[in-house]
Amino acid sequence: MNYRHSFHAGNFADLVKHALVLWLLEQRQAGGPVTVLDTHAGAGLYDLAGDAVRSREAEAGINRLMASGDRPPLIEALAAAVAVSNPDGAISIYPGSPLLVARRLRSGDRYVGFELNPPVLALLEDVLIPFAAAGARGGDGYDQVLTEAAASPGAFVLIDPPFEQPDDYHRAADTAAAILRADPKAMVAVWTPMKDMETFDGFLRRLERGGAGRALVAEARLRPLTNPMKMNGCAMVVLNPPPGAEAAASEVCGWVTERLGEAGARAEVWISG
Ligand code: SAM
Repeated sequence: MNYRHSFHAGNFADLVKHALVLWLLEQRQAGGPVTVLDTHAGAGLYDLAGDAVRSREAEAGINRLMASGDRPPLIEALAAAVAVSNPDGAISIYPGSPLLVARRLRSGDRYVGFELNPPVLALLEDVLIPFAAAGARGGDGYDQVLTEAAASPGAFVLIDPPFEQPDDYHRAADTAAAILRADPKAMVAVWTPMKDMETFDGFLRRLERGGAGRALVAEARLRPLTNPMKMNGCAMVVLNPPPGAEAAASEVCGWVTERLGEAGARAEVWISG
């Protein structure tokens, strides 16, 4: 377990993921109380003065977002959520999915975050202390989420693996499809990196074969996918997407690729299945 999200916190991929998670949560909440299950929760909060300084990914991501003057509504909503963690103005803290969600929980809502790495789990537990309806669980998120989703019909599930294990694409697709097969009212959002098209297409085919049904595919390609050793972009694949998801994803992926991308950057938003 070498993965440390602290190197990547606040990068362009976090911005895409978190702007969409906030919007998706709002859509689910409009239908009544919601349970959010986060299979790979991470630490919940990242100090950008640490590993992120060396990687410079936050500098190219959240710092540029916060400095930008004309943010469309979904990007503005993320900026506002990040500002809550940085009351003095300077951006030194980046909130992860657990904290972004926990702060938005309303009466009857619930959040469960799974985290495999014990020191990261300890950080997550600390971050969630103030939120009575939010909790952290140790262990493997893929293994545990099916049982938890079965007990929470209509759950909103986020699957956000590090993609360091060779089977992460398969496990993410199989878990997402299994949740939808068992509960067609659930909504599952899977984040993936985009390195080359073949890997990404294989992931989408596996979802389809697994019976995942209709999916929104929101791609933010920061550069053409010519070097498969690099993270050239990222995607959020949303199973059972709510109405308006295409427009929302176009707003987020469009802004990120236009403002943070290189030559040849582009957003692709489409429906599969
Ligand atoms: N979802 C978080 C966010 O948006 O703030 C970021 C999560 S980070 C990309 C992935 C996390 O998953 C890491 O903290 C890693 O330790 C954890 N992890 C890796 N394999 C796991 C597994 N099988 N089950 C649960 N957590 C796992």
